[in-house]
Amino acid sequence: MINKHLNILLVEDDEDDFILTRDLLYEVEGVSYDIEWASTYETALEAIKRKCHDIYLFDYRLGERTGLELLRTALDSGSKVPVILMTGQGDKEIDMEAMSAGASDYLVKGHIDAQLLERSIRYAVERKKANDQISHMAYYDSLTNLHNRISFKESLKQTITINKGCDKITALLFLDLDNFKRINDTFGHTVGDDLLKEVADRLKKCVRKSDCIARNVFNETNHTIARLGGDEFTIVLSAGHIHDAANAAQRILDALSSPFELEGDKMFITASIGIAVHPLDGEDVETLIKNADAAMYHAKELDKNNYQFYKKSLNETSLRRLTVENSLRKAVENCNFTLLYQPKMEISTGKIVGMEALIRWEDPEEGMISPTEFIPLAEEMGLINPIGEWVLRTACAQNMSWQKAGLTPIRVSINMSGRQFKQKNLITMVSDILNDTGLDPRYLELEITESIVMENVNTTIATLNDLKKMGLRLSMDDFGTGYSSFSYLKRIPLDIIKIDQTFIKDIHSDPQDRTIINAIIVMAHSLGMEVIAEGVETERQLSFLVASKCREIQGFLLSSPLTSAEATECLEKEALGDGIGVRLYRKITDRFDDITAVQRVIRQEEGTGRVFDAIEGNACE
Ligand code: C2E
Ligand code: MG
Ligand code: MG
Repeated sequence: MINKHLNILLVEDDEDDFILTRDLLYEVEGVSYDIEWASTYETALEAIKRKCHDIYLFDYRLGERTGLELLRTALDSGSKVPVILMTGQGDKEIDMEAMSAGASDYLVKGHIDAQLLERSIRYAVERKKANDQISHMAYYDSLTNLHNRISFKESLKQTITINKGCDKITALLFLDLDNFKRINDTFGHTVGDDLLKEVADRLKKCVRKSDCIARNVFNETNHTIARLGGDEFTIVLSAGHIHDAANAAQRILDALSSPFELEGDKMFITASIGIAVHPLDGEDVETLIKNADAAMYHAKELDKNNYQFYKKSLNETSLRRLTVENSLRKAVENCNFTLLYQPKMEISTGKIVGMEALIRWEDPEEGMISPTEFIPLAEEMGLINPIGEWVLRTACAQNMSWQKAGLTPIRVSINMSGRQFKQKNLITMVSDILNDTGLDPRYLELEITESIVMENVNTTIATLNDLKKMGLRLSMDDFGTGYSSFSYLKRIPLDIIKIDQTFIKDIHSDPQDRTIINAIIVMAHSLGMEVIAEGVETERQLSFLVASKCREIQGFLLSSPLTSAEATECLEKEALGDGIGVRLYRKITDRFDDITAVQRVIRQEEGTGRVFDAIEGNACE
């Protein structure tokens, strides 16, 4: 059946001829036409570009140009709209040329009446419909209306070419239903077919939820779902990252997991999915298909109902990483982090003089993830800057709120990553945050590591100097584990050096560590820097540090990292004269009424192994 309403583009440079043809069209009963008139070749081209017509009627003579040229241009631009060409006089040659160029019909103006025109239009439109149907059959699967194997391959090839140009990867998901044969055998082919149709619908639906899936994985224009035959389906995706493909695969498995209602029965079906990624797993269509298929078989071997990437190693080593990467991205979007605060004590007074902000990420599925695991990952993924900025802002705001509550001002320190020093606007970011929160720079300390400085000595030192000029404090974290050379150390405007916890750990058993600690302290003092020891867990360790003139300590002996509420409470007690540091200090000084006596003992006993027993007052030899 021909459409009852048709949009026509009538290209005619003679107004009288236009009116004549238009009136003929209006004479026809049973069909209504919307007619757009283009009087020049150029306006016609513009109208064609809009792609809103069912049929084109072109006059042969269009000023200097011809309707035949227009026809060729339209076809070249991919137009599938049927074209009827009209001329003033019949000319067999033009007729032949028009038909071989692809015109649907060729009419001579003087001989056209309403009936002839209507019939010519009707035939053209019907022929086009039939053609469309045939090509649909050639490219689509008749059962599910998804793409078939031929168009799937074409589309995969095209997607690869497009994605190559814009740095995206192309992922091929090869899906095979688990135990489908059993359903076919038990319930018959009609039920099997219905199930396949329903599976196709679910695939389409879960692929259409483009808003739910990050970064356009399932953009309408970027994916193709196909049925290759039987219960085999493929999905071609364009993605920014491999984990987009993993995400999509999981989404599909989830979509299939709810029961299928067929003939009043509830049926459950699962699928196994293999994933091959261009360019990692193959450069061309055939290799990718082969590898995705192999990965799918691997998924079947692994108990079905799961997805596997082609490379086995990728599965094993990267899958947890993929999951973590993925949730890390979300955590950054939603700011799913908290800061703990670990107190620092001044040894000579027992006062809490600072708090180190330590980040925590609690992932809903993976649980608590340590910064030692996710900070390097965040660095690699380019997420460290937003995280670092959040840490800085939160810690400064927290410190400001302690000051506003009337507590004795302390310094808050935050840990910096190497990547943050590559950030162009680091200085502006820090000064903006200080401005926004109102925190005096001298209450902010940045902890850097030797490796940060070593990565790019000159620029990093320049940046550190700029930061220092702003008035904040700089600390060298984990000192002794890197490769600091003294010449660099002199050039860095450090306020304090933090002796790494590995040296503190073995104070009582390793005389070498004691020597190193003493050497670090002497060196720091000679460069005008202070020293703090981290990871102090026992009174023995503290006693040694007291005697070695270490300025500050931090560690479980004093306090483990605290939540912000706990840290507030800790500072409130401190203000009342009952702080954890003061108590610890009393305990130590009660035992040694004269600190210099301890030093004397250490000097005498150094190297004999009895030093700590002596300090603790229970030397037995
Ligand atoms: P770090 O800066 O050297 O922090 C000290 C780590 O030792 C912390 O681990 C702390 O909880 C732990 N610790 C404190 N006292 C003791 C003790 O007495 N004994 C022992 N055995 N451990 C103690 P945490 O919180 O897991 O942090 C690990 C590392 O992650 C930090 O080492 C730091 O390099 C990094 N980090 C933490 N927060 C951030 C952050 O916000 N940004 C960046 N870039 N890195 C961070
Ligand atoms: Mg630190
Ligand atoms: Mg440290």
